[in-house]
Amino acid sequence: MTHKSTLKPLLALLLLAGAPFVNPTQSIAQETVRQDDDIKKMINQLSAQNLEQLVRKMVSFGTRHTLSSTTSKKEGIGAAREWVKSEFEKYAQASGGRMTVEMDKFVVPADGRRVPQDTEMANVMAILKGTDPNDDRVIIVGGHLDSRATDVMDAKSKAPGANDDASGVAMVMEMARVMASQKFPATLIFVAFQGEEQGLYGSTHLAERAKKEGWNLIAMQNNDIVGNSYSAETGLHDNTKVRIFSEGVPANETEEQARLRRTLGAESDSPSRNLARYMELVGEKYVDQLDVVLVHRADRFLRGGDHTPFNLQGFTAVRMSEMNEDFNHQHQDVRKEEGTQYGDLPEFMDFEYLRKNTGVNLASMASLGWAPAAPEKVGVITSNLTNKTDLKWEAPSKGAKPAGYYVLMRETKSPNWEKRFYVTDTKATLPYSKDNYFFAVQSVDKEGHASLPVLPVPVR
Ligand SMILES: [Zn+2]
Repeated sequence: MTHKSTLKPLLALLLLAGAPFVNPTQSIAQETVRQDDDIKKMINQLSAQNLEQLVRKMVSFGTRHTLSSTTSKKEGIGAAREWVKSEFEKYAQASGGRMTVEMDKFVVPADGRRVPQDTEMANVMAILKGTDPNDDRVIIVGGHLDSRATDVMDAKSKAPGANDDASGVAMVMEMARVMASQKFPATLIFVAFQGEEQGLYGSTHLAERAKKEGWNLIAMQNNDIVGNSYSAETGLHDNTKVRIFSEGVPANETEEQARLRRTLGAESDSPSRNLARYMELVGEKYVDQLDVVLVHRADRFLRGGDHTPFNLQGFTAVRMSEMNEDFNHQHQDVRKEEGTQYGDLPEFMDFEYLRKNTGVNLASMASLGWAPAAPEKVGVITSNLTNKTDLKWEAPSKGAKPAGYYVLMRETKSPNWEKRFYVTDTKATLPYSKDNYFFAVQSVDKEGHASLPVLPVPVR
């Protein structure tokens, strides 16, 4: 891995450890010009044409309904799963044995709702094992392979599911292809979920498995409906904006955590919200002509997604979705009515837009995968009444030692981090009052890859 660092002059300026105060350096917005060559190179390898071919291949299975055929070689969810698996296996050849492919099968018992009889389902996963045996972090990117027609129980009619959600699966596959040959200390998992439309079954299975097996899952990026840029209903045609949804308050928050949140005023600082901010910052740094719009809400009205089961298990997880949805091309039988074509067909997609959205996911996953683990026991010292802020933390107990840390700061009313300070110590004193700002700490390596930020808790 070669990193031509443009960071050095900046770092030299900032190595102020030992100084009584850390000085403010620059706003985070000014940061966007510095890029990592390896991430840039991978993003340049993402291809709109590949993404289109992958989507069209998924459409060719007729339907990928969860209750469709698992025995046909040409049609249905079974054939589609096998094809994703064989593609993953092709990409894995570039990994020197580090990428393995798994068909994770599980049986969903009849639920009296959308699963009429016990049904075997499977998530298809490509697992790129981390290179550092002392680093057990896992990062997941996912989309759902299953599709549906107008009637959610109709397993026979054509259900092309080009945008919902072959777009998400194509993204996951294209990322696996481009990232397979790279070495990350953390483990990256690329997943095509099944059973989303019948009740988030695949993601529920994997989230429960991750919990049960004690995975150190630090981030889950869900991608559902990410490849269309035009809405006939509004007439808006815009491929320069994409949404990321994130919960503000963790779904599984305990009473004790709720008390702490009220003390801190941290209603908009869940780990998932901070992953969304991370994706915005890193995504916009590497992908041109794309504005990552953070929606401070767990999901859209009336809709669910595969990030939710991860949130429910206490994991950090967000959802990306396009800005302008076209509901004529989602969950609709393929048909023509009064001159209007309905159905989720590839001709209504924008593959260049899908490529950009893939870039955001790749930049975030790669940056997190190369970053050191997050700092631990991050605290803000509250034993004295003072107009300064004293922060302290511990280096991550696993994985590579960070080169240093970023202390992030913003006004309490601000949605995004506004300033950051680089320190090499595991403490910092800032000439700003802890009463007036939010703070967080990230671990950072010498190339500038930063971990997710950790909010300090009050300590004495
Ligand atoms: Zn979907």
